[in-house]
Amino acid sequence: MKSARQAIAEDPRIDAYCDAVRAMREGRFVFDLDTGVGDALGVLGEELKALADHLDWHLSHAGKLHEITENVVGGLLLDDVLNRIFESFQTVIPYNRIGFALLSEDGRSARACWARADFEHTRLGNGFSAPIEGSSLGDIIRTGHPRIINDLERYLDSHPLSHSTRLIVAEGIRSSLTCPLLSDGKAIGFLFFSSVERNAYEAVHQGIFLRIAAQLSALIEKGRLCSQIVELNHRLTIEQQELQQLATRDALTGVLNRRGILEQLDAQYARACRNKGPMALILIDVDHFKAVNDRHGHAVGDAVLKEMARRIHRDLRPYNHLGRLGGEEFLVVLSDEDSAHGTAIAERLRRLVAASAVPFEGAQIPVTISAGVVQAIDPGVAGSIEMLIAVADKALYEAKNAGRNRVSQRIIMAPSD
Ligand code: GH3
Ligand code: MG
Ligand code: MG
Repeated sequence: MKSARQAIAEDPRIDAYCDAVRAMREGRFVFDLDTGVGDALGVLGEELKALADHLDWHLSHAGKLHEITENVVGGLLLDDVLNRIFESFQTVIPYNRIGFALLSEDGRSARACWARADFEHTRLGNGFSAPIEGSSLGDIIRTGHPRIINDLERYLDSHPLSHSTRLIVAEGIRSSLTCPLLSDGKAIGFLFFSSVERNAYEAVHQGIFLRIAAQLSALIEKGRLCSQIVELNHRLTIEQQELQQLATRDALTGVLNRRGILEQLDAQYARACRNKGPMALILIDVDHFKAVNDRHGHAVGDAVLKEMARRIHRDLRPYNHLGRLGGEEFLVVLSDEDSAHGTAIAERLRRLVAASAVPFEGAQIPVTISAGVVQAIDPGVAGSIEMLIAVADKALYEAKNAGRNRVSQRIIMAPSD
């Protein structure tokens, strides 16, 4: 008569169980196991099978989570990572839609930032914002626990004021799994997995869900930081451009200020020296401007300067530059192609200003300008920018002496001429 112990030792299921345990040790979880009748060994066999299933399930989820971690590290943009999650998690959690919302800085509202569904026409779109107070999201923040709603239509019946629920129910969603995203223990947002099926979520999904959320939380903090940096950078660039504008624009007339026009002059001079090409400047001065101020007041003088600059600027082609050197004195730096026509352009500007008086509060203020033009066949010969300006100034002086409202020109020849 065999003892019970002997009988067990000789039972062929023992070998099969040993093989199964070995297989699991080697990472194989799918095998046939004959557990026989429902005796004690049979129960043990069923337990082994359950253990294999459990391990299989957990390891595959651990694998998925690893994939996410990789994604998190690899994804530069939050959108990118959320898309990857959407594409890779359907085997782990059932969903037709994933939504993502961030808590506002003051924690008082949640704003939808991202959503993707395997159906069209999502109604709860980006930018949708809902207050936390009075909403069930408040409970999720307080407890830090995910929440499952397996029948959203019923939930809506009992929470008719939940606008967000109404919107996703209208999309066709019936179950949802909502999880807080935490950073340093503080809620920063929510992740919503939703399904068009009722009862899609079980408690078991919550564990995976929490782990995904933990990974995402870290990423969002990173993403937030990144976007804050991008935003900050953007603001700084704009401020820099504004400062640059302020630094190079004349506040009264809006044309380049002294610094701005001298920068253009520098650049044009360097270019013309390189090309040994022509270069021309027009130095403009308002005639008897002091008298305008004296007769009509400083405000009228300002209006005249503005209007004059506007007329000249509008007439010049975009590649020619106008700047205010100071007071009622302006400088035009002509481009290569217009340099040969410096005098003609100056004459056109003179006529344009003289053609009609500047209207100011019912009065008509007649204004004329005088211009000194310097044309350098090869500006390198002039020696310097200062020299060019000095020659233009001499020409201007001639125009003033000759009676004003006129153009005078000086030409600097190339040495071979
Ligand atoms: P000219 O024909 O010889 O150039 O005589 P002018 O009166 O124009 O020249 P002057 O240099 O004697 O006077 C220039 C005046 O321009 C004096 C100054 O008060 C005035 N002025 C300079 N800057 C401004 C400004 O921004 N606004 C106003 N309204 N006047 C200005
Ligand atoms: Mg002057
Ligand atoms: Mg003047």
